[in-house]
Amino acid sequence: MSRYRGAVCRQCRRENIKLFLKGDRCFSDKCSFDRKGYPPGENGQKRGKKVSDYGMQLREKQKVKRIYGVSEKQFRLSFKKADNRRGVTGTNLLEILERRLDNVVFRFGLVSSRTQGRHFVRHNHFTVNGRKVNIPSYQIKKGDVVEVKEKSRNVQAIVESLEAVVRRGVPQWLELDKDNFKGMITRVPAREDITLPIQENLIVELYSK
Ligand code: SF4
Repeated sequence: MSRYRGAVCRQCRRENIKLFLKGDRCFSDKCSFDRKGYPPGENGQKRGKKVSDYGMQLREKQKVKRIYGVSEKQFRLSFKKADNRRGVTGTNLLEILERRLDNVVFRFGLVSSRTQGRHFVRHNHFTVNGRKVNIPSYQIKKGDVVEVKEKSRNVQAIVESLEAVVRRGVPQWLELDKDNFKGMITRVPAREDITLPIQENLIVELYSK
């Protein structure tokens, strides 16, 4: 299955949670989840029927895929990597997703959403340790420095996103040097750094069948 290309806000309503996929709009009164927080479709307002265990596992997987904006294929690859590592598979999976470059530039506040992050990474707006990286899934490591390229520092979307960073905040595993358009990864994200309401054990159960 390829990446979802339908109406973005429907995804939040489908997962019954704000996924913050549209940058500043998500914090405004234009957020359609805030305005109509029921599932999309003509049966959306009807009371929900009992969901099976499989249904819950599937929904959780879809939710996490949508949060990070990855395709089914990429998600499965990330899961495989997580499963091959030592430690708890579900935690490993979230760590791998968090360490994606498109997520990290979003977490720094250099872009307003992961979608924009992916787009801007592909268009060569950032460097990692001074080297050009245009791969959204690139895995950031402890000590890496992510920087907005000199000629991209007047891109309006980046400037506006950095202005909004005070309101959005930066996670503790990252250190932002806002004036110099760069940030450092001070440590690998731990499970408690990921405050999104995710039950990763359901995804592990789904893929273990
Ligand atoms: Fe989701 Fe943002 Fe759309 Fe609200 S505005 S429904 S949080 S994507």
